[in-house]
Amino acid sequence: MKQFQYMRPSAQQAAIAAIAKDTTAKFIAGGSNLLDLMKRNVMQPERLIDITRLPLKDITENNNILKIGALALNSSVADNPMVVEKYPLLSQALNAGASAQLRNMATVGGNLMQRTRCPYFYDTAMPCNKRNPGSGCGALKGYNRMHAIFGASQHCIAVNPSDMNVALVALDAVVHVAGPKGLRMVPIQDFHRLPGDQPENDTTLHKNELITEVTIPYHPFSHVHYLKIRDRASYAFALVSVAVALQLDGKKIIQARLAMGGVAHKPWRLSAAEQALIGNPVALETFERVAAIAMQGAKGYGDNDFKLELGPKSIVEALRMASGI
Ligand code: SF4
Repeated sequence: MKQFQYMRPSAQQAAIAAIAKDTTAKFIAGGSNLLDLMKRNVMQPERLIDITRLPLKDITENNNILKIGALALNSSVADNPMVVEKYPLLSQALNAGASAQLRNMATVGGNLMQRTRCPYFYDTAMPCNKRNPGSGCGALKGYNRMHAIFGASQHCIAVNPSDMNVALVALDAVVHVAGPKGLRMVPIQDFHRLPGDQPENDTTLHKNELITEVTIPYHPFSHVHYLKIRDRASYAFALVSVAVALQLDGKKIIQARLAMGGVAHKPWRLSAAEQALIGNPVALETFERVAAIAMQGAKGYGDNDFKLELGPKSIVEALRMASGI
């Protein structure tokens, strides 16, 4: 591992000023992804700015807006009684991620920023446009079982590995960031980006900005479910995941949110499918028709072709589990 400087400011402005001074500097909190990347020389920051002294751990609710500090632990959010009661989709998604030990270390801000688990990204002997722009994409014609079926480019077909991010997209979360020019609010759908011709950029966060909190507006969804399909029951990334939140009037769907994970460079909101749910009855036929709409435009790259079949089946199953039919 390359040597680095370490500092631990206790004020937000000092942290932002410190990162602005060094183009390779990185914020660190739980370190559950960044330290792995540093040990493998995938990322080589010359300065680490430990932000764990900043007062950004609170989980509160005000006027039906849930506020989660960027340094709140994944386990603290997942087990928070208010989150469990009013935002259960988020709790389910967080508990589906990683292992209990990792959830006790990883923060919400870090989860938003975690990087793809594409094996070529982690192997410095292999080409990877995300790690080394212009070097090529080893996965495009290589082993791509875990890779994207939506929104990929010829430069990168990686997926966002987070479960939390899928629930946040379904719940219309907003990411709050602070930088030298002040505060900014970024709707979660605009926070993560598609690879295009700049796969090295996972998000729209500016280099010298700090995530301070995530807010989620309350909505009275009565039926939710986070379904994660993976190779083993725990401590594995999603092959495909589906976040569902429904509001029902009897058997009629009056409000719907649907998002997928493991299928794109960003958590993938299924807006057309949501519209196709609204006004229709809770029924297998509805769900199968909606799943077909959701999969429009999907494209496999060989090893991951199975996701074209697994995807719609997972959507139907998640809707069935959420609605209880
Ligand atoms: Fe790198 Fe993206 Fe290609 Fe993986 S899919 S090798 S992360 S460029």
